[in-house]
Amino acid sequence: MPNPLLEQHELPPFSRVSPADVEPAITRLIERNKQATEAILGGHDRYNWDTLWRVIEQLDDELAQAWSPVSHLNGVANSEELRAAYNACLPLLSEYATWSGQHSGLYEAYRQIAEGEEYATLDGAQQKALSNVLRDFRLAGVALPEEQKQEYGRLRKRLSELGSQFSDNVLDATNAWTRQVSEEQLDGLPATALANARQAAQQAGLEGCLITLEFPSWYPVLAYCKDATLREEVYRANATRASNEGPHAGRWDNTAIIEETLKLRRELAGLLGFANYAELSLATKMADSPAQVREFLEQLSRQSRAQAQREWRELQDFAREEYGAGSVNAWDVSFYSEKLRERRYQVSQEDIRPYLPVSRVLPGLFAVVERLYGVTVREVTDFDSYHPDARLFELVQAGAVIARFYLDLYARAQKRGGAWMDNCRDRRMAGARLQLPVAYLVCNFTPPVGTAPALLTHDELTTLFHEFGHGLHHMLTGQTVASVSGINGVAWDAVELPSQFLENWCWEREALALISGHHETGEPLPATLLDKLLAARNFQSAMQMARQLEFALFDLRLHSECDAATGTAVQTLLDEVRREVAVVIPPAFNRLQHSFSHIFAGGYAAGYYSYKWAEVLSADAFARFEEEGIFNPQTGRDFRTHILEAGGSRDAMELFVAFRGREPVIEPLLRHCGIATADAA
Ligand code: ZN
Repeated sequence: MPNPLLEQHELPPFSRVSPADVEPAITRLIERNKQATEAILGGHDRYNWDTLWRVIEQLDDELAQAWSPVSHLNGVANSEELRAAYNACLPLLSEYATWSGQHSGLYEAYRQIAEGEEYATLDGAQQKALSNVLRDFRLAGVALPEEQKQEYGRLRKRLSELGSQFSDNVLDATNAWTRQVSEEQLDGLPATALANARQAAQQAGLEGCLITLEFPSWYPVLAYCKDATLREEVYRANATRASNEGPHAGRWDNTAIIEETLKLRRELAGLLGFANYAELSLATKMADSPAQVREFLEQLSRQSRAQAQREWRELQDFAREEYGAGSVNAWDVSFYSEKLRERRYQVSQEDIRPYLPVSRVLPGLFAVVERLYGVTVREVTDFDSYHPDARLFELVQAGAVIARFYLDLYARAQKRGGAWMDNCRDRRMAGARLQLPVAYLVCNFTPPVGTAPALLTHDELTTLFHEFGHGLHHMLTGQTVASVSGINGVAWDAVELPSQFLENWCWEREALALISGHHETGEPLPATLLDKLLAARNFQSAMQMARQLEFALFDLRLHSECDAATGTAVQTLLDEVRREVAVVIPPAFNRLQHSFSHIFAGGYAAGYYSYKWAEVLSADAFARFEEEGIFNPQTGRDFRTHILEAGGSRDAMELFVAFRGREPVIEPLLRHCGIATADAA
């Protein structure tokens, strides 16, 4: 039997992929790629774009095409056999990435092109791709002298161990704490949260209800439980996980891991010639320097702080007047906030659902995209599928198909939760043929029941637009070099621009007329409901901003200035940041840093600011549409040309400036969040 993963297909042969094919195919392709790479490097002493770059890109693309359906099916049609095959391949792929990423012969060959005569004849995208790859080689330590290269490897290895110990500790500490309670003690919780707590108790063989430190369990307690003592207990357990405080103080304590991580990150940065780890982190991002990011975050804080303090006073007044609360503690904030939100807005996501049937929303989304970018979307019914819910669409412009996407909307068993966009095929020149981009768009909406139509909440609508925004970045790319095509090669802190940007149309009357329509009457979303939605959108937005700024500033300063990296210095810095930007000061026992996995076990070290950074970009980009008309075709064309088509082929700031005519400013984000900027005027 031939292995379908080793064949070339325009679209994945899903129905013929068997778990037994996976490991043999991936092993074989990696082996072949390594041999082919060595053969190229051994066979030439001069390299050029065609004999080196295009050949390596083709090899890697064939591997990516084999892996893409496996990775997709693992997420959306999981089985025990497939998961085992998938997991067996992960170390192989990571070993291959390290092998090629640290291959000094390959580095020298690319360098020869970059420094040779051919370089001047390459186009901008090719030059950018080349400079990215050389940068990544240098950041992987390839250019270092042998002894330092060893040291680099030792630091990387130890840091990855520390990251995994950090998250193991957080996981163990999370699992170690539970609290058995009666249903009466949970008075105030919504029915779904209560059912969840009952089920948790049953699964543990206990009576009554069980609270755990999983988010869907503890959060409803803080937000709805009337018993303040229980809220405090849950808050304390959660806020002290994996630390030297709280109910499990000293067990799974991450203090020493944090210290060593910070120390080794500093050493690693030093080895590569950076003054600190934040500079190393920013070397691949849109932001220029730690000082620039710090000023950016502090500016947001200056602009929103007065309003955050006002929101905080309102909450305290409300708690006192309505509930006789003498003080609002950290474990009371969510509780009184929920009460205040209910009082003020009285709009539930369930009220919105009847106006957002999928059968109306999808054509609406496509109509928005057509008006903005002049491309039409049409469904393809005959294709090799993996599940009846999966649909295939193509993007058509001037009669020609320019891209395709799979859409898989509904939650079901064997499907990972959440929503995401992933590459299926990258747009690139494959020999003389143009390979079209293909995307996977996956959501987990409530499936239609029986003959009833699938109805979305407004949150789900926003999610769909968000992922479609990523999808358009991938599909409308104009690039033909894979590593800068679509979202490839786009700086980490700029990659959420097109996705958050498209969400804006979910809040515009003119767009909602296209997107919404009552599933029985066809009536669009009534203005009164939209007004309530718009008002509720910005509830406590300045307080939320303060909280995000606290995390981001702490992360940035920790990696740029925390020199005496002892546990106390970390805590001292956090306290200082809180005094500067927080409005709700957490209690002294709070150990946020000990479970801050984003920065100690994820990819966000000195990068947490990216969330706010991308929000500023998307809000400011959308502001041009507000100024020129949200369906202005020229503005749409400009966004497509400068942002979507250019992708990773040029520096993200250059692209933004090309679209906006100037560098980004923060005012549109503040305005969209309902934060008055009077003191800025
Ligand atoms: Zn996103």
